[in-house]
Amino acid sequence: MAEWQTLSDRINCVAPSATLAVDSKAKAMKASGIDVIGFGAGEPNFPTPDYIVDAAAAACRDPKNHRYTPTPGLPQLRKAVAEKTLRDSGYEISPDQVVVTNGGKQAVYEALQILINPGDEVIIPAPYWTTYPEAVKLAGGKPVTVFSGPENGFEPTIEALEAARTPHTKAIFVNTPSNPTGAVWSEQTVRAVGEWAVEHHVWVLSDEIYEHLTYDGEKTAYIGAVVPEVRDQLIVMNGVAKTYAMTGWRVGWLIGSVPVAKAAAKLQGHMTSNVADVCQQAAFTAVSGSLDAVAMMRKAFDKRRKAIVEGLNAVDGVTCRTPKGAFYALPDVTALLNRPLGKNGSVAKTSSELAELLLEEAHVAAVPGEGFGAPGFLRFSYALADDDLAEGMRRFKEWVG
Ligand code: PLP
Repeated sequence: MAEWQTLSDRINCVAPSATLAVDSKAKAMKASGIDVIGFGAGEPNFPTPDYIVDAAAAACRDPKNHRYTPTPGLPQLRKAVAEKTLRDSGYEISPDQVVVTNGGKQAVYEALQILINPGDEVIIPAPYWTTYPEAVKLAGGKPVTVFSGPENGFEPTIEALEAARTPHTKAIFVNTPSNPTGAVWSEQTVRAVGEWAVEHHVWVLSDEIYEHLTYDGEKTAYIGAVVPEVRDQLIVMNGVAKTYAMTGWRVGWLIGSVPVAKAAAKLQGHMTSNVADVCQQAAFTAVSGSLDAVAMMRKAFDKRRKAIVEGLNAVDGVTCRTPKGAFYALPDVTALLNRPLGKNGSVAKTSSELAELLLEEAHVAAVPGEGFGAPGFLRFSYALADDDLAEGMRRFKEWVG
């Protein structure tokens, strides 16, 4: 590539998505006729509920829905998000604090774009969702990761956050229930983080996309409810993808103070404008309706969660704690490194190499922990059919021997 053709430093510093990389390799293998069991994708394997699809189909046929909507979203959807926040999180917000985005992902991107100046630091508790550090870098900020392992239930301690805090610390991510750990932070941790943020004037970016996927009687602790004083410095990111099996519809939202919401809408107005009207109508039906569909999915996920934890712990050299939320298991696989595996005696030095071998030799796709700030771990999504899950675990165990 000639010098004049080089792409921007901004894009060159961004790492490709680890999750999508494994997924596309697994899909390519499948396309070539190989029977791959995919634990890579982070999406429910259920169809979007019929009543939501029906609402979208009806909306599609009405020409009044074929136009731009206001950039921050349809008024009825913003109102429904405000009502849902009161119902689920237990505190009041007004519709003009809501901006409807192209998935939760755009909400994450916008939150950082409107907050971060060059050199600002953002604390990211690790293991983290792979997009966070890249979105921080795209905003000109510096990701500062703080790791907590399974022995701490993957929950950060205030001591660790304090050790990472500098005069440049601008924000901290909170993601409970978590992708990739499946941890549901205790209310005590959420309170401590919220109070710490208030004391040190740190913005809180709370990603609540897995809020309804909790098990064993665990409940999501919403930081805006647990620490009301944090609300002026809180940006919530959420969406319909995981609760209503609507990953492909691309509807999320951001909630902030009115100036934050106005800033996000200003940015979005020059970037993507409104989310597709018909998708917003579908999201409106979802958000303003019941939570019955997610209750059904939760039941199915719960069964698979137990099966996968059992299956993983049955593999010699794999240790997996029981996740309490989302649909991921993040086992420690360090005992599988640097030793012969499979009938070829292949050796993996890193979890990244292990994921590659597992895919190539056992036809099982899992995502290496490196993409989540967790080398030595593999992430298994259990949002797949029960039979596939069982077969994947059988292959993993047999391959390791
Ligand atoms: N936040 C977390 C933690 C996620 O795992 C995901 C998707 O995998 C998202 C946000 C974004 O979801 P979407 O953009 O599909 O709404």
